[in-house]
Amino acid sequence: MKPKRYIIPVFIPHLGCPNDCVFCNQRKISGKLKPADGDTVKNAIESSKSALPDDVSAELAFYGGSFTAIPAEEQIALLEAALPFLRTGAISGIRVSTRPDAIEEQCLVRLRNYGVKTIELGAQSMDDGVLRASRRGHGSEDTERAAKLIKKHGFSLILQMMTGLPGDTEEKSVLTAKKLISLSPDGVRVYPTVIIRDTALYELWKRGEYREHSVEDAVNLGARLFKLFEEADIPVIRFGLNPSDELSGGDAAGGAYHPALGELVRSRVYLNLARELLSSTTHDRDIILGVGRGCVSLMTGQRRSNVSALIKEFGLNTIKVLETDIPAGKKVTILH
Ligand code: SF4
Repeated sequence: MKPKRYIIPVFIPHLGCPNDCVFCNQRKISGKLKPADGDTVKNAIESSKSALPDDVSAELAFYGGSFTAIPAEEQIALLEAALPFLRTGAISGIRVSTRPDAIEEQCLVRLRNYGVKTIELGAQSMDDGVLRASRRGHGSEDTERAAKLIKKHGFSLILQMMTGLPGDTEEKSVLTAKKLISLSPDGVRVYPTVIIRDTALYELWKRGEYREHSVEDAVNLGARLFKLFEEADIPVIRFGLNPSDELSGGDAAGGAYHPALGELVRSRVYLNLARELLSSTTHDRDIILGVGRGCVSLMTGQRRSNVSALIKEFGLNTIKVLETDIPAGKKVTILH
């Protein structure tokens, strides 16, 4: 059996980031937070480890800023603090997140020497117009170059993309997903844009210069992207921002913020598959759909929304959803 995995997060507030992306509020947040140092790393590992069972494999993750854009000596201080824990096996590896234009050979050699295994790259879009409108400060060719270099050095590569950015469209997001797939990442994270207070995007939105990417927009598009990544055998390891008290308490002023966004998208995938099945087969008006183990709620949808939609669209009387043995490569089948 695979050991359970746990991430020990160390937040690097805006450290190393020369930018001010329109959607990001980290510059404001970071002014209120103490910068991370060696003690932050040591304390984070020790307090997490004391609360974890022995059979859990813990990985240290530097999130928030752009790790490889921090001055080299500060990167080394953070990594050196983790080294004793890596040597004793208290942590199994380290992951860092960073920007595509902050990756070069020398820094990759350093990360490898300090036991970093995974690099998460914030691509956000592969459309240069969208990147410019979002003030990302890098182009799509930076992502291509960085992704290839990361793979060449043997790291596990996670690519992050956003949907609903300024100037973005559904088709541009689909093209972004296809370009990310062509870079063969080991996983992707998809973050639909959330309008956070105290950001340039919030101001654009208030002035009517940005049309918000609603939860419904994100779910619709997300289901398309999910299918693309799934067909390419690339796991979507996160869909949507992690819910937090701050975001739920009002910092998320608009856009695609929902505490269970990933669940909504997975459920929409099931709805779309059931639609395809019902459109292509003759069936009764009382039907039974079969899904894999543990997937009944994904098929029925929140408050049975998928069932209601299918009944209405296909003029059905009733739909039952049952667990069944589903053939490999399928998610939904009609049992009756
Ligand atoms: S690069 Fe990352 S940390 Fe820097 S402003 Fe953009 S989103 Fe924020």
